Amino acid sequence: MTRVTVWNEYRHERDEPKIRQVYPQGIHTAIKEALEPRFAVRTATLDEDADHGLSEDVLNNTDVLTWWGHMAHQEVDDRVVDRVRQRVLEGMGLVVLHSAHHSKVFRRLMGTTCNLKWREDGRHERIWVVNPAHPVARELPLWIDLPQEEMYGEIFDVPTPDELVFISWFPGGEVFRSGVGYYRGRGRIFYFRPGHEAFPTYYHPHVQTILRNAVAWAAPTLGPAPEFEWSPSLEPRAGDRG
Ligand code: ZN
Repeated sequence: MTRVTVWNEYRHERDEPKIRQVYPQGIHTAIKEALEPRFAVRTATLDEDADHGLSEDVLNNTDVLTWWGHMAHQEVDDRVVDRVRQRVLEGMGLVVLHSAHHSKVFRRLMGTTCNLKWREDGRHERIWVVNPAHPVARELPLWIDLPQEEMYGEIFDVPTPDELVFISWFPGGEVFRSGVGYYRGRGRIFYFRPGHEAFPTYYHPHVQTILRNAVAWAAPTLGPAPEFEWSPSLEPRAGDRG
């Protein structure tokens, strides 16, 4: 069974009563419950220890890591960022959620600013599936309406995605690439836009389907490990025959 670690900054829910009302046990608990029982899920949070719950042992036993953060990206230790990046290059999947577009781990893996424009007006969001053959679109309708969300608008400063699955439309006229996939080394990264902390997005049934699909897509594929080293010829040279 795919082993998932759900990582959450877990500050808004503790510090702000309004947010705690939406996610009383934290966003990580809502995501964990969406992923169970299909996956073996553990959670980790920023303040739980010096490694933010992401020791080498935890990461070595994680097939897919999901990441939600917002107000404390800078507090994530660079040692942990390096460790996560290395594990992704080795094949661990990474699912990056909402405001984690500005997380250190995502920016390091993208190599761009990952900037965007935003407006927290609580109007609705319409998510369109633009690649119905993609595994992350499995068992979804052609579009999904979320009653209340934060607006994120283009331009989203990320590398051209390897996979484009969702495009969102907002009532202000903006559009956004809301579901994009990347390959980095042996690893897969999926970014999914919705999930502002003030709204109950992660309880939405179609959003929960997307979370499960994204984790399944990002899971390690057991492809060959690359060799970055001096390499002998695999074919004999003419003079070697005899
Ligand atoms: Zn937000």
